[in-house]
Amino acid sequence: MTHQRQVIYEVMQSMHGHPSPEEVFVTVKELIPAISLATVYKNIHIFLASGILREVSPHHGSLRVEMNSHLHHHLVCTQCRSIRDISEAELIEFGGCRPVEQMLPGGFLAQRISVDVLGLCAQCQQTAAHAIAHSRIALQEAVSMP
Ligand SMILES: [Zn+2]
Ligand SMILES: [Zn+2]
Repeated sequence: MTHQRQVIYEVMQSMHGHPSPEEVFVTVKELIPAISLATVYKNIHIFLASGILREVSPHHGSLRVEMNSHLHHHLVCTQCRSIRDISEAELIEFGGCRPVEQMLPGGFLAQRISVDVLGLCAQCQQTAAHAIAHSRIALQEAVSMP
């Protein structure tokens, strides 16, 4: 491992949640001012390819690295792309998912279960509600125009 790679890895280990390469870059740059974003990207891809680290999910539109090694699922906001962890127990309680053992017909051996709950986070719901209210007012004004 090169020194840069070691620093990038250590920085990522100290991060929680689902850091993007840009977020990792900001912290690594404090320790290695000369480092480039491209180098951070390259090293993260090496970590992912070697299985040291795991990508959250390839379909969230941007690369995010999973730093939570506990079994969990994700609540993904389709608007701001925020990703929040939800435990298996919470998801079953919610009723969106049956217990894992019942979900595997044909003797399928699951190695990793990845469930993404896509929707709007609390913050984006407020923004969306505001935008809808605003467009209604604009529409009323437009309709009532002589
Ligand atoms: Zn959001
Ligand atoms: Zn996660």
